[in-house]
Amino acid sequence: MKITAVDPFYLRMPDITTAADGTQDTLLVRVRTDAGLEGWGECDASPLVSLTVYCCPMSHGNIINIRTSLIGETLDGPDDVVRLSEKVLRNGLDIQQIEHAYSGAEIALWDLVGQKLGKPVYRLLAEMSGTSDVPHPKLPYASVLFGDTPEETYHIAVGLRERGYRAAKFGWGPMGKFDEANDIALVRAAREGMGAEAQIMIDAGVVWGTDHETAYQRAEAFAQFSPTWLEEPLAPDAVDAYGALTQKRPSVPIAAGEGSNIYRMAEDLIVHGGIQFVQIDAGRIGGIMPSFKVRQLAEQRGIQYVNHTFKSHLSLAASLHVFATNSDFNLLEYPAAGSELSQRLIADPFPVESDGMVRVKDLPGLGVCVDTEAIRPYLAPVRIEVGTDAVFEQGSL
Ligand SMILES: [Mg+2]
Repeated sequence: MKITAVDPFYLRMPDITTAADGTQDTLLVRVRTDAGLEGWGECDASPLVSLTVYCCPMSHGNIINIRTSLIGETLDGPDDVVRLSEKVLRNGLDIQQIEHAYSGAEIALWDLVGQKLGKPVYRLLAEMSGTSDVPHPKLPYASVLFGDTPEETYHIAVGLRERGYRAAKFGWGPMGKFDEANDIALVRAAREGMGAEAQIMIDAGVVWGTDHETAYQRAEAFAQFSPTWLEEPLAPDAVDAYGALTQKRPSVPIAAGEGSNIYRMAEDLIVHGGIQFVQIDAGRIGGIMPSFKVRQLAEQRGIQYVNHTFKSHLSLAASLHVFATNSDFNLLEYPAAGSELSQRLIADPFPVESDGMVRVKDLPGLGVCVDTEAIRPYLAPVRIEVGTDAVFEQGSL
């Protein structure tokens, strides 16, 4: 089949705030073919910056937009996705955020190939890599922000426990902004609210920058509450500081990687940063294939791969296909408190099943359906003009 259209859509809530909540707006990408099929993907990056990568006029041979690279191309199988990814990235060599932006289209291409071949994406990946194609259920962990105070955090944790979550991650907000006693009180509140049996994770939200000494001290102080990991205590690219931190073998395992916007960055954190959990966002790193490569590296190095997903269940679907077939990688970041937009985006979200687990859908492609009716009110039409030429005019959903 031939690619006939590549359409990015900018959607947003009426009011955007400074909260560390990436579900307030989004960039969806729809790819259509002459076979009458359409695939969808979602980027977790600045939506309008990414949108321009789909339509910016050519500057020279190394700055050619994603649409130009894809429209008219043949798409019949996984090899075509790999070939087209190489073409898009080569044509956009000097576009700094090309992987970020391309993630949505790459995911949509996998969705299309799966639909054409009648197979779920996880099975296509298994066939390509010669590995097991048996999917395994994941334990969803609710991903929420810390309350402004320990008391508020405790109530959030109790609420999650009452909703049946057996695992939850608390992050950002006041963590690291005040003194050590406050940091410890926040983690204690999360543990007490979730109960002794639950898994809790702590996301420090890059608050200690390159200060690996403080990160180590906090990891030791938090160990009494047995968190599964301490996430992003340091800046996303502070590879040397991560190396210094993990060489001291802190009592709580260190997790990082969501900021990886190319495969190499994740590889660096694993190989030189020594992290024990690598967290990859398929909507940032360039899509499903580079995420799958990080999964394979994690398998080789004996560390755990986890998804990073703080968007809709469209992103969750893309993330889940990447590591559904590894039974050891059993945790799933599960968006639990996103905006109305993110909650309405998919007609058939992933339920937490009666055994408390989430399963990948055994349907062609990503296996989920974008609810265009439900999200149309959030569409913010975009028109970009250069001189008298319209460079971009948003299509209809
Ligand atoms: Mg995080």
